[in-house]
Amino acid sequence: MIITCRKNAPQEEVDKVVKSFEEQGLEVNFIQGANYNVFGIVGDTTVVDERKIRANTWIEDVTRIGAPYKKVNRLFHLEDSVVDVAGVKIGGKEKVVVIGGPCSVEGKEEICNLAKKVKEAGADMLRGGAYKPRTSPYAFQGLGTAGIEAMVEARRQTGLPIVSEIMSTDKIDEFIENVDLIQVGARNMQNFDLLKELGKIRKPILLKRGLANTIEEWLMSAEYIMAGGNSQVILCERGIRTFEKYTRNTLDLSVVPIIKRKSHLPIIIDPSHATGDWELVESMSLAAVAAGADGLIVEVHDNPECAWSDGAQSLKPEKFKAMIDKCKVVAEVIGRSM
Ligand code: PEP
Ligand code: MN
Repeated sequence: MIITCRKNAPQEEVDKVVKSFEEQGLEVNFIQGANYNVFGIVGDTTVVDERKIRANTWIEDVTRIGAPYKKVNRLFHLEDSVVDVAGVKIGGKEKVVVIGGPCSVEGKEEICNLAKKVKEAGADMLRGGAYKPRTSPYAFQGLGTAGIEAMVEARRQTGLPIVSEIMSTDKIDEFIENVDLIQVGARNMQNFDLLKELGKIRKPILLKRGLANTIEEWLMSAEYIMAGGNSQVILCERGIRTFEKYTRNTLDLSVVPIIKRKSHLPIIIDPSHATGDWELVESMSLAAVAAGADGLIVEVHDNPECAWSDGAQSLKPEKFKAMIDKCKVVAEVIGRSM
């Protein structure tokens, strides 16, 4: 971290600044410039609140060299992390994992039938929302506990591990007991109370990127979970808000190599929410695999026209299978399997 202090700062003010860093166990290197005095702060600066330093009127500027996150940082964990979700391993250099299923669980029979088709298509895991974060309070809010129970039955019938979204801390026990991979949706990426509680448990978490969050904010949210002791975090890019309205969101595919550079955590892509358009899902999936994503999470529905949510972005099972078959070819080209 580099701190620029105003040249006319009184010595006692400069001493105060230096002392505050030394008290935090940091080494302070002083460089006297022609117009400014510069401090190079060496050590673990993740604990330093740079906005607090800026509040000092004698400080001109603060530049962070290192990242504010530690546990998710590749610098301190050179190997790729591999997260084991009930036997399905996500991350590393080998398999690209596919998760498929409806946006919302619509009933036990429906999810069990679809789960079989999703499995036949080649998926490794089943997705299905029981608690839905809907923009309108009048829209279908999910089946709640009945939806989770239906997912558990679909797992029993197919053997596929299940993924579902949690929205509040009061449901954590229900999710620990029943769900294999707990999804934190885009709207809750910065629900810090939820993240802290999920940090205390020992189940894999799928952390989606917020609607309008930077990569650093997203990694800081992952840091919340890891700081609590839960290291099983998988990141999911699901498109971000931009000025473009043609697609529901804009898929930021460059995050795949960026996340690989900055973090050791696995990253998967959600082409369904990223585009909002089933016709774009296959091409974005192919691109995601080519870019090095560790997996895909795709919305699939038997009858998208009648889906209770997100039908327009859902693939029919046969299209889902065709998509996986094409993605397998791309995976092979880059030395991975699917
Ligand atoms: C979902 O996966 O059903 C969902 C609501 O996704 P997101 O949080 O990315 O909008
Ligand atoms: Mn959805």
